[in-house]
This record gives sequence, structure tokens and C-alpha cells, in this order.
Amino acid sequence: MKIVGKLVETGVNVALDIQDRKIIKLTLSREESQIWIAPPLVDIQINGFGGHDLNAETVSVDDVCQMVEATRLTGTGYLCPTVVTGSAERMSRSIEAIQQAARVPNIGQSILGIHVEGPYISSEDGPRGAHPKLHVRPPDWEEFQRWQELAEGQINICTLAPEIDGAIPFIEKLVKNGVIAAIGHTNAVTTDIKDAVTAGARLSTHLGNGAHAQIHRHPNYIWDQLASDDLYASLIVDGHHLPPNVVKSMLRAKRPQKSILISDAVHLAGMKPGRYQFTSREVELTKDRCVKLYGTDYLAGSAIGLINGVENAVRFGQISLPQAVSLATRQPAGLLGVADQIGQIRQGDCANLLTFHWDEQNQAISDPHLYLNESI
Ligand SMILES: [Zn+2]
Repeated sequence: MKIVGKLVETGVNVALDIQDRKIIKLTLSREESQIWIAPPLVDIQINGFGGHDLNAETVSVDDVCQMVEATRLTGTGYLCPTVVTGSAERMSRSIEAIQQAARVPNIGQSILGIHVEGPYISSEDGPRGAHPKLHVRPPDWEEFQRWQELAEGQINICTLAPEIDGAIPFIEKLVKNGVIAAIGHTNAVTTDIKDAVTAGARLSTHLGNGAHAQIHRHPNYIWDQLASDDLYASLIVDGHHLPPNVVKSMLRAKRPQKSILISDAVHLAGMKPGRYQFTSREVELTKDRCVKLYGTDYLAGSAIGLINGVENAVRFGQISLPQAVSLATRQPAGLLGVADQIGQIRQGDCANLLTFHWDEQNQAISDPHLYLNESI
């Protein structure tokens, strides 16, 4: 098989010869192609897709597999399925289902790890977001270890609030055990953020969301995390969770090198607009892919594919297409320590890649096509 297109990273036209699942030859091409070639997208925070909810009471291995397949249609090749605050039993079931899916041939290579978001977060309205207050609790290392055992060590990100009792020693243990500690759903003060970073925290989870509707102008936990050069920031760039100017400002403060796009999608992503039941509440999925509590303006989750975040990042952040693509490929891969394996396209590598069309005038991506040939 031969693919001719423009490498996103360099803008150079190339021809890729693919045989036995490998790029056996990468040569410069004189052919002008409308096709762009990038690595598959990496989503480090996703709760569901295409009707499959990873945090449903009855989640099955099949749900996880079908969710992975649904995200592939939108260009996401790798992900960290995300388990959110719930009872120990419900979270365990989700973790087990994901772990078992990771062993399924042709599915497992897409699962780079499990992101556990909560339950060790702020119980306050605002920072807690949509996480159920009933199940928010202080960090419990034994509980986390039980989950890690169920996951066979695959939990690679844990989002927690550094200000709650026991959080800093917990972050130290996460780091010592090779888990990325992420700050999120937090009501931290300046010293809490500083202590978390000193303890080894490396990521701000969906910075600017999971926050109070109104906060002290400065200092506050958003500025403190923006100013920390040690922290990556993950951003939900769906056009609803963060206004365009906030996206632009955050990308400038963090620079592309420390910015990561996430979908943070709920299972309604990829579904038709309309009214749905979601965790016993009625929600509405709007035509512009916003999930709201029905009849209100309250956000109830994101419903984009990560690839839509890439388009929006170009538009809102006024950054180039290659920069925007790197926020969903090289940067998340770098955070996870796998940039060398999945963040680039080289001769001799497995033919894992994404092709798409880019409409410069409308700054829109179309026809994403994922080639995922081998595990990393
Ligand atoms: Zn969250």
C-alpha cells in the first residue's frame, strides 16, 4: 500500500510504502496531495463515546471495546479510559472492564493506561463538578492499590485535589510508583499547588473547569497552575467548556509544549442531537455538541471527538495546524513517556498513522482515517 500526503510535522510531501504493517520506505514526493499525515491522536481523558459509558453500573468489556472502536472512527488511536468518582465497587468494575479490554486483540494496543479521576477530590460545589458528593473521600492508598492490582498496574494517571488531608503524601506515593499525579477538581491555595508540584504532580486536569463559577481574582488556583512551568495543562477545547479567549490565553501561558487537548467526552459523544437520560438526569445533546442538563445552561459533559478539539485549537488559539496536532499527539505521548513510540512517523516504524483533509479557509478537518497496525 502507498500513501502520499503532507507530513503534518514538517509540511513536506512524502510517499509512504507500507508492507507487512510497517513503513518500509519514506521518500519525498513531488505529488501535491490534499491529504495530511499525522500520528494517531492520543486522548488521556475520555469517559465514554458512541453510547458506551465507562462509568455505567453495568459497564462490560464489550462496552469498552466498542467505545475504543467508535473513537477510532474519529482519528483517536490511543487513549486512557477514565474512571470517575463512584463507590469502590462501581469504580472497581469499570477498572476491571477496561483492564480486560486491554487484553483483547486489536483493541488492547489503543489502551495506554487508565486515568482514575477522583474520588479524592474537593467535596465543594463547583470544584467537585458533576462528581457525586456521596462518594468523594480522602485519599486512601490501600484502596488505590487494590484498584492498581485489578488493573494489573495499568492505572497511569490519578487526578486528585492537593488540599485535602493526606493528598501530598499520596502524590509522593503515586510518583514513586510511576503514576502521573494530576491536579484537578480542586480548591487549592497557592501553597497547596506548590507542595503538589514539589511532591511530583505533573498535570493540571482540564484547567479552568471543575472550578467555582466565581473565584477571587488573584491569587487563585487557575493562575497558580498556569504559572507553574512544571505542570502540563489539559484543556477541553469544545467551544463550551472554555471560551476562545481563555483557550488562547492558556495556550500562550503554557506554550504548546506543556498543553494537551483532551475530549473528556461522555458517552453521548458521537450520538445524534436530542434528549437522553444520563446518570438518572435528563440531558440534552445540542447540535453544536454540547451536553446540558435539559432546560438549563449547566454543562453536563463534553461530546466532541478529540479531532474537533484540534480544529478548535487552531481557531481559538491562533496556532498552526502542526502545533494543534502536536497538542493531541506529541505532548500527551510525551507526558506518558511514549513520544518516541507513538508521537512521530518514521521509516521502519509500524504504520500507525492518521490521514485527513484540512480546509484552510474554514479551518476544518474532514475525512479522518486511522491506520493502526501494531501494538507499540
Ligand atoms: Zn473532571
